[in-house]
Order: sequence, then structure tokens, then C-alpha cells
Amino acid sequence: MEEWTAAVAGGAVTNVTDEIITVHTTYFCGSTTAIRTAAGLVLIDTGNPGTASQILAAIRKWDDQPIHTVVYTHGHVDHTSGAPLIDREADARGIARPRIIAHRNVLYRFDRYDATHGLNTVVMGNQFNRPGYVFPTPHRRPDEVYDDTLSLTIGGKRIELFHGRGETDDATFVWLAKERVLASGDFVIWAFPNAGNPRKVQRYAPDWAAALRRMQGLKPDVVIPGHGPVIFGRARAAQILGDGAEALEILTSQTIEMINKGCSLDEILHSVSVPGKYLEKPYLVPRYDDPEYLIRSIWHLYAGWFDGNPANLKPAPKSEVAKELAALAGGADTLAARAGALAGAGNTRLAAHLIEYAIGAAPNDRAIHATRARVYELCMQAETSLIGKAIFGVYERESAKRSTG
Ligand SMILES: [Zn+2]
Repeated sequence: MEEWTAAVAGGAVTNVTDEIITVHTTYFCGSTTAIRTAAGLVLIDTGNPGTASQILAAIRKWDDQPIHTVVYTHGHVDHTSGAPLIDREADARGIARPRIIAHRNVLYRFDRYDATHGLNTVVMGNQFNRPGYVFPTPHRRPDEVYDDTLSLTIGGKRIELFHGRGETDDATFVWLAKERVLASGDFVIWAFPNAGNPRKVQRYAPDWAAALRRMQGLKPDVVIPGHGPVIFGRARAAQILGDGAEALEILTSQTIEMINKGCSLDEILHSVSVPGKYLEKPYLVPRYDDPEYLIRSIWHLYAGWFDGNPANLKPAPKSEVAKELAALAGGADTLAARAGALAGAGNTRLAAHLIEYAIGAAPNDRAIHATRARVYELCMQAETSLIGKAIFGVYERESAKRSTG
């Protein structure tokens, strides 16, 4: 992720065919693809407010025709929030704004974004550790929506849209049959599928696998992923799509099997795992999301929010439980000391429980905050996923600050 970001900084172009380019700006913002047609350009995604001008400049170096149509691969802001710049370019030229096409659920997503702007500002600011981050708004709505598939002919070019659920419920992948080029959107991201993100709405690991199988069936010669380098060659494309599907199928089927046996979420989390041979692949490394978070998401998809622990059905306030346990243990300090020792010995999971009880019992204790900061620093070091590191980092910074007043 970091290497690719450094490699494409400032805007890099991949020539997919003579008529198609993909523009990359950073791993963390979706790539934009431009397709030349006799009626104007078709864009797949738009970047975000920070990258859209670089993207548009790269496209304009290549072709100066009006932008006829924009397809959103899904409603995430790193794919859609560059759209206002494209509208403004059309306004400045005195021509019609592009038509934007997306899956119907993008409309519901944007309504949800309007209702949860504060939440998204907090969650995204935390996820990428960007203090002062503000979630982009307003959201440029699509002009046309579709449900399962949509076949377009624009300036003589045949472009087919397919809907699937995966990272989101509003995803589209784009197929150019004649060119055998597939723009997968975020179904392919050069990392383990991001289907378990702890602070996002429901994601769909089993449907993600099904969408990858559907793409594999198209036998593309080129796959343009949502993030990261373009994949050339039919065999490589089939391998990346197939391996991604297989890893998700294994995770889903093992989780469902245990759900059907009546197991608790706790038992499943500590039993199910993805075989290491998948996680070693450069296109499936768990650097962004964590397969363990996907298990929770699959549980939630099939089995609701109750985790099988009766104490969690109608729980006492956390601070009450913490004070009770601290009293039994001989004080919050004792719990904190044990947490520090466990974390130092590598058992960061158990340490996190104990330090939360300690801080719950003594929320203003500076020394306990110092231990808590150390525990979460070690949790961050033990974590491979960006999302996991980011969440631990929020609490590490909070306690580091409170340890000094
Ligand atoms: Zn994305």
C-alpha cells in the first residue's frame, strides 16, 4: 500500500488499451478509468476532492473530449466525491454535465451519509489517523440507477454493468466484452477483502465471493482493480479472482458450519481462520482489513447481534463491572499491573481486557492511563491490519494524553 502510494504520487497513468487509461494517485483513493468513445469520454469513478484535479489533469493530457458518462463502482467517497469537480469543468466549458450512473443503493447510501456526517467524520478521521478530517459533502447523486445489470452503448462502445454485494451493497463492476477488460471496483483491492471493517455498516463476504466467481466466468484479459496496479494477462486475472473467491468461501463456509452447530461467536472467532497460503499472496495480504473481523461480519449477517454470551444480553454498565472486579482483585492498580505484564509477555488480547477494567474502575488515574497507552501500543505492534492498528491507536493516544494531565 505504501510502496504503491509512493510510486503513483502526483498522478500516474496505466495505458490499458489505446482507448482506455487508468489514473492512480495514492493506494488510499480509488483509481479512475477513462474510456474513449465517439460520443465523448466515459469515466469509471472520480477520485476524491484531494485527488480529482490530478486525475482530471492526467485525463485531459490524454483526451480533451467532453465527459459523457460517469459510472460509480460504489458510493464510497474515495470513488465519488471527485464528481463535483467534473460538473464544474462542464459548467466552465458551457456544456452539459455528465450523466452519472450507479446502482440504486448508492441513493440510499448518500441519504445515510447525509444523516451520519458526524459519525463518518469521526470514523474516517480515526481510520486514517487524520486529525481535523471532515467527511466530504454534499454527495453528487447519480442521474440514473439500475438494479442487477445494465447494458450501455455509448459512442459505439458496448459497456456492461453488473451489480454485486461485497464491501458495499451498492457495488458495480464494469465489463467491456470486446476488449475483455474488467473494471472490478473494490472487489479487487490488492489486499484481503475489506468485508469486516468494525465501524462500518454490514458487509457481505459470501456475496463478494459470488461476485468474484461471476467475474472469473467472464474470462477477462485485464482486471482494473479499485485500488492498486492493473492486472494484465488472462491467467493472472483468473488467479487473482479465483483465489480471492476461494479464501472468502472457506471463511464463510467454516463460520456458517459452526453457526449451524449452535456455537457462540467467541468459539467461532477462536477456531476459524483462513489458510496461510492465501494470506501470503501479495493480493490477499491482511494489511487493510483482518479476516477475524470478517468472521464477525459473517456472524452478524446470518445470526444477528447477540454473541451467545448471556451476560451481553442485558449487560450492567461497564464501569460497574470494572469497579466490582477491581475490588475483588485488590484494586485497579493490581489489574493494571497485571495488564502491563501480560502485554509485555505478548498476550495483548488478555491485557486489553484487564486494562479496560482497570481504567473503568479508575478513569482519571494517570499511572493507569500510562499503562493503558503502553498496552495499546503493543496491541498496535501485534496487529497486521491498518484498520486494527488505527482503532488501537485512538485509545493509545487518548491515554497517552491523559497520563500527563
Ligand atoms: Zn475504494
